Amino acid sequence: MRTPRHAALRLLALTAATATAFALVPAPTSSAAVPLERKGHVEQECYEPHADVATSARGGQVHDHREISAAEQRAVELRTERILSRTSARQQRAAVAAPIPVYVHVMAAKNGAGNVTDAQVAQQVAVLNEGFGGQENAAAANTGFTFTLAGTDRFFNDTWHRDGSSAKYRKATRLGGANALNIWLVDFNYLGIATFPWDYARNPGVDGIRVQFSSLPGGSTANYDQGKTATHEAGHWLGLYHTFQGGCTATNDEVGDTPAQSSPTSGCPAGRDSCTLPGLDPIHNYMDYSFDACYDQFTPGQSTRANQMFTAYRG
Ligand SMILES: [Zn+2]
Repeated sequence: MRTPRHAALRLLALTAATATAFALVPAPTSSAAVPLERKGHVEQECYEPHADVATSARGGQVHDHREISAAEQRAVELRTERILSRTSARQQRAAVAAPIPVYVHVMAAKNGAGNVTDAQVAQQVAVLNEGFGGQENAAAANTGFTFTLAGTDRFFNDTWHRDGSSAKYRKATRLGGANALNIWLVDFNYLGIATFPWDYARNPGVDGIRVQFSSLPGGSTANYDQGKTATHEAGHWLGLYHTFQGGCTATNDEVGDTPAQSSPTSGCPAGRDSCTLPGLDPIHNYMDYSFDACYDQFTPGQSTRANQMFTAYRG
């Protein structure tokens, strides 16, 4: 279990627009940050808020994804190995060769809050390509994945904007097949939430990632405004765990070249070393919780895993 249940829920910094929207008055367009303490919603679909190690005075928001127990983690590995044992290397290469179509669903409020621009959407897709292409650090892996915007649609629904009736709106709006990355841009208690590839067959209608709209490039979420939340969530969508999955264990995130971590990183603390196992914490890895400016890489091991996961479940 990677998340200490006893730890306090992370406090959230909501924008002024969000805070006033709660009071059911027209929201201003100002994005000045107003810290507001609020317990996170407990998601109804096996998601839950992450406890977090570093609640700064500013507050902040966290990435999240479905909780995975150690037993389920093991079962997923065995299932994936079985599928891949029936798949040739040629088939694996072919599976990831095609660009991933990206469908962006802008879930704006009736008053227009969250209605990000087409330019921001285009920049977001560019950020995905930079990250998965290994363009941010010479040591970063080029995973081979490329993303192409296949469509943007816009909805003006206050409930959906707040991620209400989440399963319903996702099923109503999702586009494409298993290989299509659907991104719903909402205003909620998280930076992002992702589904895993091995869950696609069981529940294809909700497959994709939900991302805080203000985390897009040019958004208003301080320190998380370069679009790398979507990179992190797309990592989950391709089967990657957090680098702190499993804590200080050899199994950890099932990837050999990401040193074990006891807990999520906050900010960008150079030299952090939270486990006695070899290696410093991978604070620059997209699958940690560091600030956007700190993120610059997936590892070769993560690239291999994501490619295998895509082949097994999305190819
Ligand atoms: Zn995550």
